[in-house]
Amino acid sequence: MPILGSTELFDDVHKKDLCVDCGACVGLCPYFVSHNGKIARLFPCTLPQGRCFAHCPKTEVDLNRLSTWMFGSEYDLSALGAVTDIRKAKAGPAMTDRGMFQNGGTVSALLTLGFRSGRITAAALTSRKGLTPEPVLAESEEAVLACSGSKYMASPTLSTVMKESASGSTRRMAVVGTACQMTALAQMRMNPLEREDFRDPVALSIGLFCTWALDTRKLKHLLKDHMDLDSIVSMDVPPPPAQVMTFNTSSGTVDIPLSDIRPLIPKGCGICPDMTAEFADVSVGALEGEPGWNTLIVRTARGAEWVEDAAAQGFLILEAMPEASLANLKTGALGKKKKALLRAKEDNCLNVAPEAGRSALVIDPERVESLLT
Ligand SMILES: Cc1cc2nc3c(=O)[nH]c(=O)nc-3n(C[C@H](O)[C@H](O)[C@H](O)COP(=O)(O)OP(=O)(O)OC[C@H]3O[C@@H](n4cnc5c(N)ncnc54)[C@H](O)[C@@H]3O)c2cc1C
Ligand code: SF4
Ligand code: SF4
Repeated sequence: MPILGSTELFDDVHKKDLCVDCGACVGLCPYFVSHNGKIARLFPCTLPQGRCFAHCPKTEVDLNRLSTWMFGSEYDLSALGAVTDIRKAKAGPAMTDRGMFQNGGTVSALLTLGFRSGRITAAALTSRKGLTPEPVLAESEEAVLACSGSKYMASPTLSTVMKESASGSTRRMAVVGTACQMTALAQMRMNPLEREDFRDPVALSIGLFCTWALDTRKLKHLLKDHMDLDSIVSMDVPPPPAQVMTFNTSSGTVDIPLSDIRPLIPKGCGICPDMTAEFADVSVGALEGEPGWNTLIVRTARGAEWVEDAAAQGFLILEAMPEASLANLKTGALGKKKKALLRAKEDNCLNVAPEAGRSALVIDPERVESLLT
């Protein structure tokens, strides 16, 4: 697949409104910046190839190449991607200083073990100022707990990783992010431009399940008449039949109908086939019907080693995944894939012939047709 430059990134992603603000093009050069929930290009760089294009999760992403590099197996469009184990999990007794976790606190527990054991010296996480998500390079267990909880807005989380990588930092990092961020991170870790000075800073990638993230500016606009944005303590999307998004503020809870929320989903989420963050060492999401627990998918050997140690040292409690929840998760994940591939076909950004333009996604056409029929 061609690796091009920032002009093509701008044409293929920004002009087509496919940017999901992941931050993978920020911090590599002075030209791309993130401001108030949007990525802006300050200056048109003329380099024919750039890491911005190579990392972006919406430009010529060859999922088979990525899967083969990361897991040694082909991308087969199965519901959950590469899986070595799947459990129900939550933070264990060693997590005495509990943060305000979104679900079971599995993500914060894995990160805490990372610092406590010396496996990592930093973690690329996401905090929030008012309603604006803020990338954070956490350097302590306390900073991990301060970042707990989901911010359901698209966040330029990866900008800190890219800055670290571009500056030749020797930190060992954990990175937490949504599925598109894990795809971009995996593309970065493949060293696509074959740079001799490349060093992979990632010790563990923790993917978050994701159905959509919201456009921060549009969300601010919607919510400003309903609440003081600085008073938001946490947010959640309760499972069906709720049909609302819940905002807990210092002066009470406000429910906003999902019919008002859905128009704030970026167009780029519509072509995203990945619900369970398939290109990560481990992936974590909610567990249907059990709010204090997570679903935990282990995908790589280093993910397995980290999870086993977390359980052995009391950072995590692991139990068997309920069969019915697993079946529903697979149905939901396959549903997202089908919907996204249909949309990508309609929008002419899946498997585009080179003479006809460029693709956002490249996936074995036979597998696509088999899934869609
Ligand atoms: C935009 C978004 C959409 C999601 N959609 C779903 C879904 O459809 N189904 C589902 O089961 N789960 C979804 N999740 C995941 C879920 O909300 C929890 O993050 C997950 O279950 C982990 O819970 P926890 O208690 O272990 O997390 P915690 O221990 O509370 O840690 C949460 C971590 O999430 C990171 N984070 C917060 N906001 C963001 C962000 N915007 N971008 C990147 N990282 C962030 C923080 O850095 C923190 O480390 C979504 C998360 C996000 C951010
Ligand atoms: S999707 Fe990510 S890498 Fe692509 S243009 Fe947007 S912020 Fe940059
Ligand atoms: S739906 Fe996909 S593209 Fe949108 S924020 Fe979630 S992972 Fe990213």
